[in-house]
Amino acid sequence: MDLGIKGKSALVCASSKGLGLGCARALAGAGVDLVMNARGAEALESAAQVIRDEFGVKVTTVACDVTTEDGQAKLLKAAGEVDILVNNAGGPPPGMWTDWNRDDFIKALDANMLAPIALIKALVPGMMERGWGRVVNITSQSVKAPIPVLGLSNSARAGLTGYVAGTSRQVAGKGVTINNLLPGIHATDRADSLDQGVAEKEGISVDEAKTRRCATIPAGRYGTKEEFGATCAFLCSQFAGFIVGQNVLLDGGGVNATL
Ligand code: NAP
Repeated sequence: MDLGIKGKSALVCASSKGLGLGCARALAGAGVDLVMNARGAEALESAAQVIRDEFGVKVTTVACDVTTEDGQAKLLKAAGEVDILVNNAGGPPPGMWTDWNRDDFIKALDANMLAPIALIKALVPGMMERGWGRVVNITSQSVKAPIPVLGLSNSARAGLTGYVAGTSRQVAGKGVTINNLLPGIHATDRADSLDQGVAEKEGISVDEAKTRRCATIPAGRYGTKEEFGATCAFLCSQFAGFIVGQNVLLDGGGVNATL
């Protein structure tokens, strides 16, 4: 399916691995030039080179921390007038609701609420002037159904979700859509580290932790970054212009809710 975005450009944050990489690859497959980002330069450059070789699109890499003002400035300089913004960053650590202090909350807010908002504020005005733009924020199923051990994620991502709900409706008239993609459990390094944590806490193997988690997902498996990326690319396509301010859940049926 031709998504109608060949020749457009995208900034995909936190994209050397996992879900961000899935989005970058799917956009590249649709003919979109990329600015890719991660903190680790080596993995970032090697993921970028695979995409250049496979899809023939232009890929610029910016190794920096997207959660810092300095990192955001570097990204914005490299991105210029991009048509598509995919916001992403690492997720906060797990713990108990009694664990976190102010600094922990500030870190989570910087990563999962304030960084995406800063990039939206910087890039959406240009998209509005040009009459076309797409923003996709990678958030979490924790926005729909709280995950007890991820209180920092539950909190920070809810803040971004509220901001997007109001803002998306103020920019849609200029051809710019902002939506959130909510991953349930997907097979990435992040999922491995969460499973490792469960295994240590419960005194079971990592494989057993995965098996138990799969049993809680109606689809009976973890999602893939390819499935996730394809959904992101569709939300960035010409066909998704009427999808505004939505929270699209990709969780294999994990959240047990009618709506
Ligand atoms: P992942 O496999 O660990 O990949 C994270 C990617 O982000 C890597 O490329 C990493 O590279 C980059 N990154 C992390 N922190 C960064 C920062 N501060 N600045 C720039 N790049 C950064 O994680 P994932 O599973 O794809 O998860 C992506 C997001 O979705 C996270 O916020 C996660 O909490 C959320 N999520 C994931 C799942 C899941 O099941 N996988 C479920 C719900 C929500 P560097 O380390 O080199 O920077």
